[in-house]
Amino acid sequence: MQGLMMDTPLTIPSIAEHVAKFHSDREIVSVTLDNPRHRYSWGEAITRSKRLANALEKLGLEKGDRLATIAWNDYRHLEIYYGVSGSGHICHTINPRLFPEQLIFVINHAEDRLIFVDPMFVPLLEKIAEKIGRVEGFVILTDMASMPETSLPNVYCYETLIEAESADYVWPELDERSASALCYTSGTTGDPKGVLYSHRSTILHAYASVGPDAIALSSMDAVLPVVPLFHVNAWGIPYSAGIVGAKLILPGPKMGDGEALYELLDSEDATLALGVPTVWLALLQYTEKAGKRLDKLQRTVVGGAAVPRSMIEAFRDKHGVELRQGWGMTEMSPLGTANCLKAGLEDLTPDEKLDLATKAGRGIFGCELRIVDDDGNELPWDGVAYGALQVRGPWICSDYYKLEGNAGSHSEDGWFDTGDVATIDPQGYMAITDRTKDVIKSGGEWISSIELENTAMGHPAVAEAAVIGVAHPKWTERPLLIVVLVENSEVSKEELLAFFKGKVADWWTPDDVAFVDELPHTATGKVKKIELRRQFAEFELSA
Ligand code: ADP
Repeated sequence: MQGLMMDTPLTIPSIAEHVAKFHSDREIVSVTLDNPRHRYSWGEAITRSKRLANALEKLGLEKGDRLATIAWNDYRHLEIYYGVSGSGHICHTINPRLFPEQLIFVINHAEDRLIFVDPMFVPLLEKIAEKIGRVEGFVILTDMASMPETSLPNVYCYETLIEAESADYVWPELDERSASALCYTSGTTGDPKGVLYSHRSTILHAYASVGPDAIALSSMDAVLPVVPLFHVNAWGIPYSAGIVGAKLILPGPKMGDGEALYELLDSEDATLALGVPTVWLALLQYTEKAGKRLDKLQRTVVGGAAVPRSMIEAFRDKHGVELRQGWGMTEMSPLGTANCLKAGLEDLTPDEKLDLATKAGRGIFGCELRIVDDDGNELPWDGVAYGALQVRGPWICSDYYKLEGNAGSHSEDGWFDTGDVATIDPQGYMAITDRTKDVIKSGGEWISSIELENTAMGHPAVAEAAVIGVAHPKWTERPLLIVVLVENSEVSKEELLAFFKGKVADWWTPDDVAFVDELPHTATGKVKKIELRRQFAEFELSA
């Protein structure tokens, strides 16, 4: 017998309608190139999205067409999220820091018909214009007064384009399973792969992520996503903030600058901020140096890479801010786990709580987890056994765009292989020990680079650390610690290595230390291990 409940579709226009009715006066603040503090309301954002939807129709674009963005986090980008996906097109967010060949690849692979671009990224497109000849037009995200000179063909000014349109627009009735957005993985190995989100997956992910044990987002929050709108839809914040009616603070191009971030968080009364660990390093270094405290911020959600214990401690003890770790991937919309305390664990000591907080967290409802060995056998949740982490759920990709059946990314029984290696403890807390491809294999045994990095980061003189495996005649591979020191501090190699004593198994201790001025990062702020392995390919261990 079927249930007797309405089958109303889960689509992005339904968020736009909800916003317009319930929280149209809630504020959105943006930093843009042409305005250091742009302010308007969610209601105006939705109205302008409707104008954009009308403009797209006039330009002859059809449902299902891919329309790309190369832009920072600001209000115009947000309007495109709603205007493009809401009118049945697919919003393809492009990471501006991709290599030119990758940019060309993703634009051509997606067959983008139109590209919305921030003025500062226009030169990037001019350089590759000849190789992306199928793109029919470029919309520059500014007003007429700030339009740059450009050699790009068929250029439109965003403000002029939407000004000419009516705000009367009726969102179409869309199939909830139709595609809404496209995001390519960074493609550290091989070509980038396209993850094609649907309206349904987007809404379900938004519902799940606002929950109190996930991101815990409510209408009372003022949320600042430092995570870019071009990376996994800024972890879904444009949608989740819309369904709850949170104030949105969009940092524009100033995302990596500790001082600018502090000023924005403080002056806009941000209660929640989200981003990868490196951006918080910059913020914490700034507050330390300037003697400032994050008085208003209540929570940060940090993920995308392992979160050092010292960072969780600094937020908690110096600023009174809860750092909640999350784990996920582009392929997972992205949220899979979140780390918050579970009933029964309240009496842990502050130190034990810190230890627990370094884990990736428990699966949020809707994301199933399992760890398997090389033969696909499920491993126990004992916190010790580690294996390939696989996931399943309605906001996890079932395949890659135009690679259907050929990516080798899924198990025979339909689970997605994350490429991560993890343990899961009896309480359900998952901890990532490595990326499969970053695992260090010493004498046939695995060493967790993440645990070593976390340990090194606990040393007061270490600002950032990465551990990679380098060739060793006897053990095949041994760990090399690469560190960036805190400004004006000194520590010897011997001292650093001695710091590992008692914190990790003796045989895990790195064989050598390399001091560098900076580590290479990806566009999303993760340490580029592939680049480090290239740089240190010939490194000879001295220990
Ligand atoms: P990319 O594919 O460009 O690296 P993703 O954001 O999809 O971008 O990266 C997902 C990967 O990031 C995960 O598979 C995992 O290796 C890593 N990651 C994400 N969150 C965490 C976390 N909390 N701890 C450790 N690693 C993480």
